[in-house]
Amino acid sequence: MRYRASNRPMGVVAYPGTRKRNGSCGTNRRLRTGLVFGMILFLVAAVPVVAGPRSEPSVELRVPDTVRQGEPIAASVRVNGARVEEVDVLLFGSGGEKEARVAAVGVAPRGRERESEEQWAAILGVSSTAEPGGRSVEARVHFPRYSMIARSDVMVEEGDFFSMDISLNRELTALLTEPDPEREEQRRELRQLLASSDPAATYNPGTFQKPVEAQRVSADFGDRRVYRYADGTSSRSIHNGIDYVAQPGTAVHAAGHGRIRLAAERVVSGKSVVIEHMPGLFSLYYHLDSLDVAEGQFVLAGDRIGTVGATGLATGPHLHWEVQIARTPVDPEWFFDNAVLQVAPITTQ
Ligand SMILES: [Zn+2]
Repeated sequence: MRYRASNRPMGVVAYPGTRKRNGSCGTNRRLRTGLVFGMILFLVAAVPVVAGPRSEPSVELRVPDTVRQGEPIAASVRVNGARVEEVDVLLFGSGGEKEARVAAVGVAPRGRERESEEQWAAILGVSSTAEPGGRSVEARVHFPRYSMIARSDVMVEEGDFFSMDISLNRELTALLTEPDPEREEQRRELRQLLASSDPAATYNPGTFQKPVEAQRVSADFGDRRVYRYADGTSSRSIHNGIDYVAQPGTAVHAAGHGRIRLAAERVVSGKSVVIEHMPGLFSLYYHLDSLDVAEGQFVLAGDRIGTVGATGLATGPHLHWEVQIARTPVDPEWFFDNAVLQVAPITTQ
């Protein structure tokens, strides 16, 4: 891994800290893409608003130089010299518009050199349809009486996605296109659930495991789809998960530790399970044949949550597996090689 110290002007802005937690947590690089992610290092001097500590604290924000569309951005924040109350990490577009905001999670630094050092980590979602180009990540570090901001740049590069046509028979066409208040209500509820974030849900700071023993992958994350309906019309959509083909009845396992936030039969996704692994970080399991868990239940990575089926909008038995961060679907297999929470290596003295 290579690092570079940015020579960009430091943004040190003191502002009243907010105390609302609404997000999740952090990570890093993907060997699979073959990219070597350099990381940007910021040392920020403190500007206390009211009364600061005798020696000025330092804040470092580390993020990858580049990510691909649909890859998470792992951010780690190291603070020296003052007790931190809370850290928020935000993602801004090139025009300065806010794209995401998550609350960082405190992590114990490995081999920490000073008593006063703290590490925080956060993970942000970049959509598979995000415009390629520059982004800015901002860590807002809140101390009891003042706040500091560290900024760092990330380049979002174009991903490599397939295009595919899917022909739907009359029955499946009706499932998607006929007015259905129940379907719409379920969509609204799921959107609400995936936008929520339980600050106490810090169950899975590590990697994920594959949720099913699959024969093959029939659809990839980020596939650009054209649904061809039975009446000759069509519509476009993005496939936000991975489809693993397996025999009906094959066990489906929790990808990581977490709490079951949804276990129900739905119109389009069939028998479905949603697990919250970290605040605002969810994994979704669709088209199950049977459900072995109930809402509110805690599961460990590898626990059986149901079996493979073809319920809902499915043209054959498979597991649709999806991961969302604060409502942004990201590449689920990224988490096989990358821990959710990233602890930055020590580089400062
Ligand atoms: Zn799918």
